Amino acid sequence: MNYEPVMGLEVHAQLKTQSKIFCGCSTKFDAKENELTCPVCTGMPGCLPVLNKRAVEFAIKMALATHCNINEKSIFARKNYFYPDLPKGYQISQYDKPLAQKGVVEISIDGQVKKIRLHRIHMEEDAGKNIHGTISSYVNLNRAGIPLIEIVSEPDVRSSQEAGAYLRELRSMLRYLEVCDGNMEEGSFRCDVNVSVRPVGQKEFGTRCEVKNINSFRFVEKAIEYEIQRQIEVLESGAKVIQETRLWDSDQNKTFSMRSKEEAHDYRYFPEPDLLPLMIEQHWVEEIKRTLPELASEKKLRFMKMYQLSEYDASQLVQEKFLAQYFESVVELCKEPKLVSNWILSELLREFGPEQVASCPMTPQHLGELLVLITNGTISGKIAKHVFGKMLETGQAPQAIVEKEGLVQVSDHVQIEALVIEVLKEQKAFVDKYLAGQTKLFGFFVGEVMKKSHGKANPAMVNEFLKKKLKGV
Ligand SMILES: [Zn+2]
Repeated sequence: MNYEPVMGLEVHAQLKTQSKIFCGCSTKFDAKENELTCPVCTGMPGCLPVLNKRAVEFAIKMALATHCNINEKSIFARKNYFYPDLPKGYQISQYDKPLAQKGVVEISIDGQVKKIRLHRIHMEEDAGKNIHGTISSYVNLNRAGIPLIEIVSEPDVRSSQEAGAYLRELRSMLRYLEVCDGNMEEGSFRCDVNVSVRPVGQKEFGTRCEVKNINSFRFVEKAIEYEIQRQIEVLESGAKVIQETRLWDSDQNKTFSMRSKEEAHDYRYFPEPDLLPLMIEQHWVEEIKRTLPELASEKKLRFMKMYQLSEYDASQLVQEKFLAQYFESVVELCKEPKLVSNWILSELLREFGPEQVASCPMTPQHLGELLVLITNGTISGKIAKHVFGKMLETGQAPQAIVEKEGLVQVSDHVQIEALVIEVLKEQKAFVDKYLAGQTKLFGFFVGEVMKKSHGKANPAMVNEFLKKKLKGV
């Protein structure tokens, strides 16, 4: 029998606010244990939460970018459960009246666009963190009260590849909007996947398992592949898939059962009595809408149209907002977008990751000046690579390096003609072979002339003179 996997994804994204969602404590990542806490986020009785307006603004930004309807009235609710890292005994989240509903995210796989519908986006606070030592366990509450949004998709995802594309798209949007840094290692972008399989053609969904705790795109894809295979094997053996929460073990490359899956009613949700309903006025939403930046998918299309770049090149350049800005700054100086794109994608990204370009020592100004030296014939592309290396080492402007090292391209007719004549004289034997029909030797002569000029001869002129001289010999 053939099976079809069905998946829905839940993403928790940490909002990049300065302070926590219901108190004034800082959200800094690398503080000392329990340094960033107060009576509110440690759940002391009698303390009242106050909602962080910036967190709401950030959540609305993401809701707008994903084409959700923003509810005029949403309600914070208590989600009750006991865990040592949750001193209040409940998490403040949203339940039946979330911030936003019914969105859509477009993903693109091999040029094919697919829409993944969003069920909802709601706001909530993070819990603390348990740290288990050899003898004792500890609780660090710095995370407690960090603002999160949970982005819940409809079960529209059909493969691990689609899941990966969807998550990358969400992360890119959050980073472009500058509402979340998307750092998976530090836990600011986390993903749970609900996986089920059903025989092809069957309408009803199979029983799903939730796989939690996956902290890299690669692991998400692997965990999904594993889970699909496991569920198919369970069904094929005649048994039933049990609804449960499973954890991904990246050392063993498998999922294992963590607990039977809780149902919403287990949490005894009720409206948070310490917070008023969240009322969002339309004019505020409109105001926020006007601040939305051009997102990666739109930018990609614009780059393809405006700069005649291939889809591949454009998608590489827009993977980071700053990288895309960098490209456009260089293009302002050197008006050849394809050349700029090639240099950024091959030379610059060989040295720096896309996220490091923002802080790399090669400024767009300097790279632009270097490329102008190529297009105006001052230096060859080959010499430019050498200069590029020197620029990285010294931080100097390209012009200064070219002058200091005497690298200016030789475009003088007399000099180049002399070099060509010299080479043809020295390589008499090969010239005879060439004239006898071995025309492939042409490249060899070019190489010899370039060598003699220490790479500085203008290659176009070398070609031209060689052709002339070889005809006339
Ligand atoms: Zn606090």
